[in-house]
This record gives sequence, structure tokens and C-alpha cells, in this order.
Amino acid sequence: MDVRRRQPKPPLPSAARGGGRGPASSSPPLEPPKASDALPLPLYLTNAVFFTLFFSVTYYLLHRWRDKIRDSVPLHFVTLPEIAAIVSLIASFIYLLGFFGIDFVQTFIARASHDAWEDLDDDVNRGFGCTDIVAPLPKSRDPAPAISALSSVEDEEIVKSVVDGTIPSYSLESKLGDCRRAAFVRREALQRTTGKSLADLPLEGFDYTSILGQCCEMPVGYVQIPVGVAGPLLLDGFEYYVPMATTEGCLVASTNRGCKAIYVSGGARSVLLRDGMTRAPVVRFGDVKRASELKFFLEDPVNFDTLALVFNRSSRFARLQSIKCSIAGKNLFTRFSCSTGDAMGMNMVSKGVQNVLDFLQSDFPDMDVIGISGNFCSDKKPAAVNWIEGRGKSVVCEALIKEEVVKQVLKTNVAALVELNMLKNLTGSAVAGALGGFNAHASNIVSAIYIATGQDPAQNVESSHCITMMEAVNEGRDLHISVTMPSIEVGTVGGGTQLASQSACLNMLGVKGANKEFPGANARLLATIVAGSVLAGELSLMSAIAAGQLVKSHMKYNRSSRDVTKVC
Ligand code: ADP
Repeated sequence: MDVRRRQPKPPLPSAARGGGRGPASSSPPLEPPKASDALPLPLYLTNAVFFTLFFSVTYYLLHRWRDKIRDSVPLHFVTLPEIAAIVSLIASFIYLLGFFGIDFVQTFIARASHDAWEDLDDDVNRGFGCTDIVAPLPKSRDPAPAISALSSVEDEEIVKSVVDGTIPSYSLESKLGDCRRAAFVRREALQRTTGKSLADLPLEGFDYTSILGQCCEMPVGYVQIPVGVAGPLLLDGFEYYVPMATTEGCLVASTNRGCKAIYVSGGARSVLLRDGMTRAPVVRFGDVKRASELKFFLEDPVNFDTLALVFNRSSRFARLQSIKCSIAGKNLFTRFSCSTGDAMGMNMVSKGVQNVLDFLQSDFPDMDVIGISGNFCSDKKPAAVNWIEGRGKSVVCEALIKEEVVKQVLKTNVAALVELNMLKNLTGSAVAGALGGFNAHASNIVSAIYIATGQDPAQNVESSHCITMMEAVNEGRDLHISVTMPSIEVGTVGGGTQLASQSACLNMLGVKGANKEFPGANARLLATIVAGSVLAGELSLMSAIAAGQLVKSHMKYNRSSRDVTKVC
């Protein structure tokens, strides 16, 4: 068997890559202008020019002043060269103040704001944990503490102020300029307010700066979730060790057994059918006719190129693929779909949609934008639109499991598996009125991988849509199993993927960060790994049920042996 270990996967065919190409069309985020940007010269030359200017015009003006006093000429009589010298003096003074004085000014402002903070009106700030007013967060990823000394006496005062509501808890990061200290103070205040100990919730060992303004607000610690590894998963000729963050006993062991069955049967194969994130705003018109006019305009292929041009300005990686409309009376729901490179893409697609809405306002001034998301997207809710149309990555994955593997590794037989699948995953789910739930436990595997790799766990809802098919092949001896998952929403950049632990798990799979050569290839590979792991999980759990092992193994691995009454 030709098996390659954890090498980067070759790029997917261009059809599967889904239009992630094209020239860079958006510029990088603008930084605020600095004083040193005043001239298009290296910093030392810019400084030299302004220093020379400052001292020479000062010397010249003083010289002229002395001459005027000597000749009894009034000082306010100024010549053209003198006016130029005064302007140069002011300009160079502003530059030098901007360059060298800024630290002094900032220190001064920090002191002043600290004093003001102490005097804040109780009525404004009362209420621990008030989150409806969001304080501006420090811009820097690693801000220098505005209040440098870390004295416990000082911390004690701040904790007291948070408890009595003088200092809003949400403002601690921006006020202290030290994320770890802010978490410590908030946690102390929380313990005093609730009277409950947080001793078992760890505080140390986490980089709170890395979540600032991006992943979690008002942190008081972090929860530890064990990460197990299943594998190797042999998928498309490559081996992957799959990280799974879970507290459900049996899950990793069971997925691991499925991986083994797949491995010894020659591996699984996957195909990525589609790659496009969606966002659907809702807009309202005065009557049905106008709503229909916009629907026809958006769906007319003649207008697509113009709309795509406007949409794609949101990011170098966003490429509009389609717009699907649905009308409810005089309200129009427009489902925009676009490829998003290696990002899961919600931010990207939302920005693109906003561009198009702004653009449409000129031709449809009577269009009332009710919401950038009108739930036809549909994000984090079970919805038929995702099940049928797909959202994120649509993947199908299959494996042929040999008869002896079914017997020896999975401890069951092909006929029992096929019958169970038909009755449980297909018929039983139909009886239950399932929406995308034609599987045994896809969400178990999806959630565990999502948490380990920094995906948005709430998207487990539609990402776990899956239909598991089983069929006896080769005259009934072997088992053909497949999982079809239309809405796997994953990314390898943005959100929680950049945090240290999650990033390490992505790295283990060889899909960390952006794929420089083929933008989007890392996220697409991750989606196929998710589907392959679900295949392994389905195979193993279905086998356990078919063999009547489920209760037995749960009793062994999942049932706590501790006497909980004593723990309480
Ligand atoms: P999301 O849209 O999933 O919420 P973000 O907008 O937070 O993700 O993250 C995407 C950011 O990463 C964008 O600013 C984008 O320009 C940048 N980026 C860098 N490389 C890539 C890549 N290969 N694919 C997608 N985005 C990338």
C-alpha cells in the first residue's frame, strides 16, 4: 500500500478550488499616519531634515529679531523670507513634537484618564458586568501597561471598585493595559460578588492578549478540555492524526477504531463538491412589484459581473459565486455565496454583501435594508437551505471495508450493518422528521475537531448535516460506506484558529494558517479530514450498535466510577 505520512496534500483541481484566484484587489488595512511618514525618506534622514530646519530657522529668526531691535524697526513688520521662516519653524516644531513628544503626551493622558477614572460617576458605571457599552479596546496586540506598577495594594483597590460598580468590569483591559492582570482583577471581583470560589478554573498559562478584541470578552480564566488523537486516518493516500477535544468517553477510542478499519481496508477517498460561504440580507420595499424588480435584477446573468466586481472589493480572497433570491411578500431575501480562501468566511462575505447593498441603493433608493442577515443564510440554525444548497464546504467521502475487517476489527457483519443503517439512519431519521440528521453521530466528531482546531463550535449545527449510506457490495461480502456532508464550515485563518493550542492542532494536520500557494487549499483539506473522520466515527459506532456493544463500552469508558454524592 502506497501510504504517505502527513505530507501537504497536492492542490485540488481548479473546479473544486472554487475561484480563489485573481489579482489582489484590496489593500492591507491602513495604519494611522505617523510623524515619521512626513517625508518619503528613511527615518534618520527625515529627522535630520527637520532638526536642521528647526535650528536654522530659529537661528535666522533670532538674528532678524536682533537686527530689528538694533535698527528700531517694529517687530510685527515681517518680510516674505521671515514669513517662510516662521511657517518652517512651526512645521518642524510640530514634526519634532509628534515624533519625540508623543510618549510624554501619552503618559500625561494615561495619568489624567486614570485620575478621571477614579472620579467616575457611580450612576454611569454601576452594575458589574455591564456589557452593553463596549469600551474601546487598546489597538496594540501587546499593550504596554498604562499603570506600570503591579502592586497588590493597588489591585485590591481596583477589585473593590469593580465590586462596588465604580469601575465597569468590561473596561479593565483598556484601563489597565494588561490583559492578564485584567482577568485576575475581574476574577477576584467575581468571586467576591458571587461568593463562589473559582480556584479550580485556571488563570495562569494562557495568553489573554491573544483573545483581546477577537475571541472572548471579559475573561476570568479558561476551561481545560482534553485533546485525544484518532488515527492515522488514511484519506486520499495521506495519513492524518486527527485531534479531538472532548470529554465524552469512548468517542476518540471509537473514531480510532473506525480509522483502523478504514486503514486496513486501503483508505478512504473524498471529493469536495462545492466551496462557498453564504450571507443573506433581508430588504423591504413598498410593494411586491419593487421587491420582484430587485430579485430579477440580482438574478439576471447580465448583471453578475458588475455585482461581483463590487462584492469582491471586500477582500483579496472573496469571489462572488452566486446570488439566490427568495421573496416573502414585499420582503426580499438574497443569499450571496462566495469563496473565502482559507477563512471560514463569515466576516468576508458580510463585508462583500454590505458593498453590494451600498451599490444597489443608487438604483433602488426605496430599498430598506432591514438586516445584513435575514436567516436565509442560514448560520448556526438547522435549515433545509443548507442541507439542500450547501454552505461552506460540501464533501462526500467513501470507503470500501473488507468482509474480514468488518468481522475482526468491527466485530460485526456486513448484513447487520446495512440493515441497521437502513432502519436507524434512514428510516428512523425520516420517522423523526430529521433535517440533515441521517447519521449516527456526525456531530460528535465534528464538534470535537472544531473545538480542537479553533472553529466556531456553534456552526456544528449545520456542519454536522450528514447522510450515511451503507451498501453490501462484491456479492454481499464487503461494505461500501459513504458520508455526504453539504455544509462543513471551517477555516484555517481568523477566529480561534490563531490561538496557540488550536494552531498546534491545525499544524498536526498540516493545515495551519493560510495556504500561500493555493489560497483556500488548507481549509478545503480540513473539510475533507472532518468528513473522513466522520466516516470513521459512523463506521465504528454503527458497528458497536450492530454488535450490541454500545452499552457495554459506555459502562466501561464513559460512566463515572466516582461517588458523586461524596464529591458534592
Ligand atoms: P472570517 O471571514 O472567517 O470571519 P476573518 O475575516 O477573521 O475570517 O479572517 C480572514 C482574514 O485573513 C482576512 O483579513 C484575510 O485577508 C486574511 N487572510 C490571509 N490569508 C488568507 C487566506 N489564504 N484565505 C483567506 N483569508 C486570508
